[in-house]
Amino acid sequence: MIDVTEQKRKIAVIGGGITGLTAAFYLQEQARLHHYPLEIVLIEGSHRLGGKLQTLRKDGFIIDRGPSSFRDPKGIVAQLAKQLNIEDEIVTTTNAKTFIAIDKDLQQVPQNTIMGIPTKFKPFMASELVSWSGKVRATADLIIPPSKVDGDRSLGKFVRRRFGEEFVQSLIEPLLSGVYSGDIDELSLQSTLPSLLRYEQQRGSVIRGMRHEMKSSEPGDFTVRHNSKNVQKFRGGMSTLTHALTDELTDCEILKSVKVQSITPFQDKTCLSLNNKSTILVDGVIVATPLHMVTNLFEEEEVRQLQTVPCNTVATVTMIFKEDSLQSFDGTDVYISRNSDYSFTSVTFEHKKWPFIAPEGYAVVNCYIGRTGDTAIVDLSDSEIEKALLEDFQQLFGLDQLPLETIVSRWKDSMPQYTIGHADRVKKAKDTLRKLYPTMRLAGNSYNGISIPKCIKQGKHSADQLLCELFEHTPQFTNSFD
Ligand SMILES: Cc1cc2nc3c(=O)[nH]c(=O)nc-3n(C[C@H](O)[C@H](O)[C@H](O)COP(=O)(O)OP(=O)(O)OC[C@H]3O[C@@H](n4cnc5c(N)ncnc54)[C@H](O)[C@@H]3O)c2cc1C
Repeated sequence: MIDVTEQKRKIAVIGGGITGLTAAFYLQEQARLHHYPLEIVLIEGSHRLGGKLQTLRKDGFIIDRGPSSFRDPKGIVAQLAKQLNIEDEIVTTTNAKTFIAIDKDLQQVPQNTIMGIPTKFKPFMASELVSWSGKVRATADLIIPPSKVDGDRSLGKFVRRRFGEEFVQSLIEPLLSGVYSGDIDELSLQSTLPSLLRYEQQRGSVIRGMRHEMKSSEPGDFTVRHNSKNVQKFRGGMSTLTHALTDELTDCEILKSVKVQSITPFQDKTCLSLNNKSTILVDGVIVATPLHMVTNLFEEEEVRQLQTVPCNTVATVTMIFKEDSLQSFDGTDVYISRNSDYSFTSVTFEHKKWPFIAPEGYAVVNCYIGRTGDTAIVDLSDSEIEKALLEDFQQLFGLDQLPLETIVSRWKDSMPQYTIGHADRVKKAKDTLRKLYPTMRLAGNSYNGISIPKCIKQGKHSADQLLCELFEHTPQFTNSFD
């Protein structure tokens, strides 16, 4: 048994994105609460904390270069924001209006759909996005029996079987591949949208399952809820969250611009070698960097040979216009049907969703580019990307003005693709590592969810598990990811 009054322990958190910052914050909070003799060190490779959460504030504009909003059906962000005293900074949009671009046509996604799947029939039947035969085929979801296939399978195949080809091509595919920057035929049902499988198994139909969940008070793991009121953002931009976390980390040593280069066992501890030629000996480690970066850190062959998670390179392109040049379009979001020849995968008219992010009279338009099979565009020069996007805008919105400013933010290998069999591969990676290093945990967007709430959950969860390993800590989370 460890005598917590005597034995000082040290935990390193590698990676200062939202996952690592949350893990460090949770460690600090629990150590204070339970008087654990714990030292925490957070090691971040770049010169700034926050990882993909990056807000640019300039001339009255608030521009998020990475994630710009979040959906928080389980209140995970809200709970953290409360602890950080920034809950009043969370703003909810009430006017999201999503369209799909099919060639030159813009069609509104019917009201009351989740991921394109209708939860009310009237708006769906009135929509012109899908033909009558496509609508009839989609409602066959209500009678098609659950599939007998065991184990993980393709998300695309699953939705095609239940809703038919036309409905998937016109609605589900553009929305889902816009969110995951991936190919729905390659993505894992189990790891991206397990709720769909649950609805099928428990209710005999995805539509019925969703309708039921909408009515019940306990929301599920919705990733894309269209035309609902729960898309949220921080008033000062997404960095509000990471700045507040950083400010709170007063009992944590923070190393910036320092990269962990290798991890090796050293007696009963773990040795981290840093790129500044120094080493740190620790009792526990939370590795909150993408998996493809993790495997390189170890000498052990069995870790180096672990299959990593493929990641797509994407970019956000933020353009600022005079607002009157964009008056003709009354939606807030546009997703692209895969068969259409546009450069972007989705566009958000940010100033309409969040009027406080731009001075009056200005429009802020955020375009996402890059997805499976189409990442070359991200490597074009800024001016070539801008030119391609302006051609798209001309076709879709009749826009013929140049932007006042364009900001291109490239995110190399940043969008993990949870392909079929992902959960098993993650389990294998975690098990392999834990056998060699019992006090090491992996957390972040390569594993159990890419959204901000899911990264926060993983950060807390991994910290909780390590505290259990090192102290007589009672686990706070019962539903394990492992
Ligand atoms: C363009 C874009 C838009 C997105 N939009 C949304 C959205 O609207 N809503 C949403 O919920 N999610 C969104 N996401 C997903 C979400 O932003 C990410 O999944 C999440 O921020 C990942 O956080 P993380 O802490 O796990 O990883 P990261 O933010 O990648 O942090 C990892 C950190 O580790 C550091 N690091 C790496 N190697 C080392 C090393 N060897 N030593 C020390 N440090 C190291 C890196 O510098 C980095 O700071 C988006 C992602 C992208 C790329």
